[in-house]
Amino acid sequence: MTSLPILSSPQPADDQPGAARRSSKPHWLDLTEDQLIEWLSDRGHPKFRAKQIRRWVYTGRAETFEQMTDLPAKLRADLADAFELFTGSQACVSTSPDGTEKILVRLHDGGEVECVLLRDGARRSICVSSQVGCAMGCVFCASGLDGVDRNLTRGEILEQMLRLQHRLPADERLSHIVMMGMGEPLANLPGVLGALDVARDENGLGISPRRITISTVGLPPAIDKLAKVGIPYNLAVSLHAPNDELRSRLVPVNRKIGIEPVLSAADRYFESSGRRLTFEYVLLGGINDSEQCAHELTGILRGRSVMMNVIPYNPVEGLPYVTPSNRSITRFKQILESSGINVNFRQRKGNEINAACGQLRRNRQSPQSDSHA
Ligand code: SAH
Repeated sequence: MTSLPILSSPQPADDQPGAARRSSKPHWLDLTEDQLIEWLSDRGHPKFRAKQIRRWVYTGRAETFEQMTDLPAKLRADLADAFELFTGSQACVSTSPDGTEKILVRLHDGGEVECVLLRDGARRSICVSSQVGCAMGCVFCASGLDGVDRNLTRGEILEQMLRLQHRLPADERLSHIVMMGMGEPLANLPGVLGALDVARDENGLGISPRRITISTVGLPPAIDKLAKVGIPYNLAVSLHAPNDELRSRLVPVNRKIGIEPVLSAADRYFESSGRRLTFEYVLLGGINDSEQCAHELTGILRGRSVMMNVIPYNPVEGLPYVTPSNRSITRFKQILESSGINVNFRQRKGNEINAACGQLRRNRQSPQSDSHA
């Protein structure tokens, strides 16, 4: 891990990593609007209260039902008897000098997931997890080193968004969402789409789907399902290699899929959504950063209007990979650009707080690490 300074030390956890804070009540954030209305009607409360409660949660930044002061006391008490607004707790919060903040959320069953707030000019972007762990097994990624435990519910995904929103000053709003935290979002479509319904609802977080990106390892049937949903989310496909031999080594799930079916599914998504595709390519020194790889990549992307996100590898403790030299990063980028590909060279923010996928959770779990937690 890098040892750059952090502004505020991570807040200590109130209990041991992995300890469960079992909640016996349902998560209010798991309710759809229709379910909320039904719950209100069943208890004799008027339907219009649904809008009021949702406003408190999504724009009023309430963290308890008690804070919803314009609701009748009886309704507040009924809500508190029936639900928990947030079912997780903040196991650790880190702030980096560049304004990046990262929260490790401990779920009610003791699982842990990470989410990040990034400040970039006027943008307030958040990166959110979709699963506890990940089953895809990308060899350079910290999230999947121990496999996947379970999918997050829509409420648990929304809770990450709200916890990050609450870190902003009152006059700032979340502007962008990337589903690029732990897990494979397309392996948890119900949870992800349920949470994003609220994120883009104007009575929810009010973020346009054009400012929401779903990042996937590339699961063709699920990409087609997402296209059928018909909402113009941006799709980012994690490619990481220009041929099947190398991609199958780096992204094991590729053995059963293959690059061509992934590219075809991405093309179909582009046709139906009209949204320009993004491909992600993590540059691993000496492995996929050669000029040959760059040329092969331009070959397979030819004829497609895409954005290529080139991301230098962010070292994960215990893994043998290295970040490429600046020279080879620049060369790689030049080759792509000279063949007309739009390249976004993404310098990862928040490196000093382990802001790459799965790193904070991992470092808290590993006793011999130099974790900040
Ligand atoms: N499963 C999804 C989303 C989560 S990973 C996907 O594969 O796209 C989000 C992005 O972070 C992916 O492109 C992933 O390859 C990248 N990533 C994971 N670990 C990384 C590391 N150590 N350094 C740089 N990028 C990493």
